[in-house]
Amino acid sequence: MLSANQVPTRFSQILNDQIGLYQKRRFIQVVNKIPSTKEIPIENPLHWLRIPNVVSVFVDMINSTQLSAENHDNGTAGVYHLYTGTAVRLFAEFGAPYIDVRGDGVLALFNETQSHRALAAAVTFKTFTQVEIAPRVKEKTEIEIGSHIGIDQQTVLVRKIGLKRHDQRSDRQNEVWAGRPVNMSAKLASLSKAGELLVSERYFKRFKDERVLKPCECSYGTKINMWEPIDLQHDTRFDFSTAYKLKSQWGWCREHGKDYCEGILALDPIV
Ligand SMILES: [Zn+2]
Repeated sequence: MLSANQVPTRFSQILNDQIGLYQKRRFIQVVNKIPSTKEIPIENPLHWLRIPNVVSVFVDMINSTQLSAENHDNGTAGVYHLYTGTAVRLFAEFGAPYIDVRGDGVLALFNETQSHRALAAAVTFKTFTQVEIAPRVKEKTEIEIGSHIGIDQQTVLVRKIGLKRHDQRSDRQNEVWAGRPVNMSAKLASLSKAGELLVSERYFKRFKDERVLKPCECSYGTKINMWEPIDLQHDTRFDFSTAYKLKSQWGWCREHGKDYCEGILALDPIV
């Protein structure tokens, strides 16, 4: 407990209010899909939403720390727009109900009924990074950028946390997605090497169709399983013991990618 003389009163009042709020019982409303951002609660501080089996896709740029704002400012600015801007636009077009920019990375959340769609979106961005972004940036800046990509799926809690209004502004608040998938997808992303896509076991288990598991013969002359299990038993950052890695060289095939993408999108239920 803070003593009466530990912190100036105008600050300690806030701290005591927060403790009071913490001690109250929250009202958790179960909803079956991700609501529009304006419907995410902010008014009642005890109101949270619980959404089952949300798919979290997290992408961020490898080697972005090498991009300097001091030198080559035009190039650096362009890379951010190409990478982060493309991810946002692409995930929006793939129908992600929630998208947020996090640093140079992007978080996209999909509903349970969009599990295949989330994968198709991630593979499309992975392909674009490998085929277009990385070579172009390398040619211009000598820097080898790439994508970290991670996906997990589980229940989340959400509400807006922060100041509702501050000088007419509402920028001191954001949606907070509590629960495993957002954290786990970001951690899987950080574990991936350039061009790899890492997904959790519980998400991977949803895939039964051969188009997801064994893509066309073009890469290896035969249909092989493109997913490799990764042992995470001893990695305490994860609450699952196996991840699956989509090998780095694989993206949408130049010949058949379009058909595979449409085919995989069609595997989700129509809602
Ligand atoms: Zn092919």
